[in-house]
Amino acid sequence: MHLSHVGTNKICFLLSLAFCALLVLLIPSLQPLQRQKDLPQPRPRTKPIRAGAGRRHDLYGNPGQGSEDAKDGSFIHPLPPRGRPEDPQRTLERDTAHARSPGSRSRDSLDLRDIFIAVKTTRKYHKSRLQLLSQTWVSKAKEQTFIFTDSEDKELRQKAGLNMINTNCSAAHTRQALCCKMSVEYDKFIESQKKWFCHMDDDNYVILPSLLELLSSYSHTQDVYLGRPSLDHPIEAAERVKSDGSSSVKFWFATGGAGFCISRGLALKMSPWASLGNFITTAEKIRLPDDCTVGYIIEALLEVPLTHTGLFHSHLENLQRLPTDSILKQVTLSYGGFENRRNVVSVGGAFSLAEDPTRFKTVHCLLYPDTDWCPRKTLH
Ligand code: UDP
Ligand code: MN
Repeated sequence: MHLSHVGTNKICFLLSLAFCALLVLLIPSLQPLQRQKDLPQPRPRTKPIRAGAGRRHDLYGNPGQGSEDAKDGSFIHPLPPRGRPEDPQRTLERDTAHARSPGSRSRDSLDLRDIFIAVKTTRKYHKSRLQLLSQTWVSKAKEQTFIFTDSEDKELRQKAGLNMINTNCSAAHTRQALCCKMSVEYDKFIESQKKWFCHMDDDNYVILPSLLELLSSYSHTQDVYLGRPSLDHPIEAAERVKSDGSSSVKFWFATGGAGFCISRGLALKMSPWASLGNFITTAEKIRLPDDCTVGYIIEALLEVPLTHTGLFHSHLENLQRLPTDSILKQVTLSYGGFENRRNVVSVGGAFSLAEDPTRFKTVHCLLYPDTDWCPRKTLH
């Protein structure tokens, strides 16, 4: 009896030893899993999305490295950030599509109503730029698009109602004025309870089905910052928030002119530096424009990397180089640019260049051919 008791103890002892050894062996293999927890993970596609003629699933195919001239118009930066090895998450956006299987569905599918779209504008562009947007993509996302401007406008108020927000920010094109608008955009998004915050300029066309498809690949509860870097290297700025400015920080930021999106989970974490006017203070400290300040808060302060995407476009790029058959698969488009009226996407269809100099109407009619002002297809 006594002997068998000792024998049981021995066995127990040996078993615990074996268990500890197993644990020691397992710890290194568990570590990367833990690290990945904080990175945005792609999700299986939530639902099939109608996105206009000829959509394929491989939206993000990206053979080019670090070139805006990549044949499909996509762009992935060539350099790893902050001297780290290439982060697998950075290429996630282009890989996600391949991981999607058309049959896979999830219960919490993303709806357009879950997205808060902020459009930054100013009084002088209410007619020349905003009208075109109201006529085109904004008409398909009225409830969730909010116009952030700097003065009252009866006509616009009548059309947009509560979705027109007079920020009372200055109408000047200064850092302070633009940061003031971004600050109000942020606060209104937090108030809205929506899952995603997407900022757009008033010279962007948003291809809503593509936006929905892209955001559906991520979870709004994770830390996601999606956009196009305007430079091919991280920006460097004096660190005046965490320290006295004697050291510098390097970070990527998404160019505001191409639009960018932030998950609610991440936006909430930005609050100490972004909410209730803090955004303006942060921008003033680092003395950088609004979009750089967003990048600074997210990359430098919260240490969440920008997910680089080639699907967002500003007029800083040569838009004519976007292959025609890939245009409807992009998320945002733009036009013009400094002394370059001809910088537009090459898409043919309903309207001539004279009738539709931005090409936004043409794109809109390709996406929504049943729109009443789109020319009807004639039957032969
Ligand atoms: N903008 C503004 N206030 C101004 C000038 C411009 O809010 O005084 C907005 C404009 O409506 C647009 C964005 O800032 O949404 C960028 O302006 P723009 O396209 O003229 O300049 P760029 O893209 O060359 O920076
Ligand atoms: Mn612009």
